[in-house]
Amino acid sequence: MYISMCFIFTPVLGILPTGAGKSLVYQLAGLIRPGFTVVVTPLLSLSKNQIFNLHRRNIPAQEYNSAVPWAVKCDTLNRLRRDAGLPFVRPRMPQSDQRELKLLYVTPEGIASGNALSRLLDVLYRAGRMGLLAIDEAHCISEWGHDFRDAYKQLNGIRKRWPNVPICATTATATLRVAESIVTGLGLQNPHRINTSFDRPNIEFLSVNCVDHPNYDTCSNRDAFFYYYSKYQWQGKCGIIYTDSRADTVEVSTMLQNHGVRCGYYHAGLKLDERNLTQNKWEEAFIDVIVATTAFGMGIDKQDVRFVVMWAIPRTVETYYQMGGRAGRDGRPSVALTLYSDVFATWREWQASEECKNSRKKHGALSEKYRHKMVKKESLGTLLSIVGHRIPRCRRATVLEYFGEAKDTKYQSGRCCDICSNESLVFRGQGGRKHFNFFLYMIGPSWCANSQQC
Ligand SMILES: [Zn+2]
Repeated sequence: MYISMCFIFTPVLGILPTGAGKSLVYQLAGLIRPGFTVVVTPLLSLSKNQIFNLHRRNIPAQEYNSAVPWAVKCDTLNRLRRDAGLPFVRPRMPQSDQRELKLLYVTPEGIASGNALSRLLDVLYRAGRMGLLAIDEAHCISEWGHDFRDAYKQLNGIRKRWPNVPICATTATATLRVAESIVTGLGLQNPHRINTSFDRPNIEFLSVNCVDHPNYDTCSNRDAFFYYYSKYQWQGKCGIIYTDSRADTVEVSTMLQNHGVRCGYYHAGLKLDERNLTQNKWEEAFIDVIVATTAFGMGIDKQDVRFVVMWAIPRTVETYYQMGGRAGRDGRPSVALTLYSDVFATWREWQASEECKNSRKKHGALSEKYRHKMVKKESLGTLLSIVGHRIPRCRRATVLEYFGEAKDTKYQSGRCCDICSNESLVFRGQGGRKHFNFFLYMIGPSWCANSQQC
């Protein structure tokens, strides 16, 4: 249905939560429409993953970015020229695909920098060959978004550059303010809006209170994790655990392995083939659990993830929701569990305040960068009210409220959250040494060096 909408109506603004088939909207619309579709994505890993899946389905798609070899880039340019009836100007690859190129994945920098591709796109636009412009992760364009990127700001002038190309902007998380900012930024006039509910009724939102022990102390976290591990019979089932730093992925993974859990770790500091190996093992079920930083997850399409554990409190509601949303894509009962602690929550607040203070000092109170930090801080405040134990309130309702949605009163599966089922738990760790170290760590000058890695 969404796809037919995208075919008939443009511009389109699609706000579709993780698992709702966001990329399918522009991929299928792009295949149906005449000409080719330009897909703008912020992350190379994201386009790589999508290209891999499209090639598996034998769909002519190509990416053009800094990670692509020169010969492949030339081939892509030649294919675009050939489809538009223009002469070849670059060396030709002997085994070039003879089919019409339908989807071209680029980064925002790639189409804005006046390079060969950018100039060719202008020519192809004038020749009427550009069928659709899809902007994925469109919240990055908004300074109110949790993930604002400078490169995306350049897309603000895209309407002037290509006034008639149909635009389809999609994102998985956008508050009302962010949605309006996307519409204005991209110059979408009366866009057709595709909004699916943010509610994922099959996911149970749990938060366990690991009293007075920060997440660096694995004692209370470990006890809490294994309580749920046996309660929900997670043994042999697929799960993701998100930690706050690279070192924690290794530490937690080793600890779990010692307890007989088949798991591996994943972070951006590992070599690409090591990361791919762990990911493949997890996808092919040679291991059950992957312990990762936020670097893991974008473009992952595994349906049977039964649990996502946030070993450390995330930084924003959007991140929390995206992480938790990776559970239960198959619609079967799943769990998003946060290991909460007041000490860590306080540290997160302090960390966010410091970032705001530094940004204000560096860029000024009126700068976009400062405003963006303030938005993130605000989002953290809401997140702490969602996963916190200070004022207990239905966790699902608070998340939905943040995205401008009311909790469906018909929701009666009995697996809403630990507040609704009156099963909020407290775990007290035994370790004291790490607790003390944590405070030293907190006041030390290197606090951001570890926490911002991913
Ligand atoms: Zn609830």
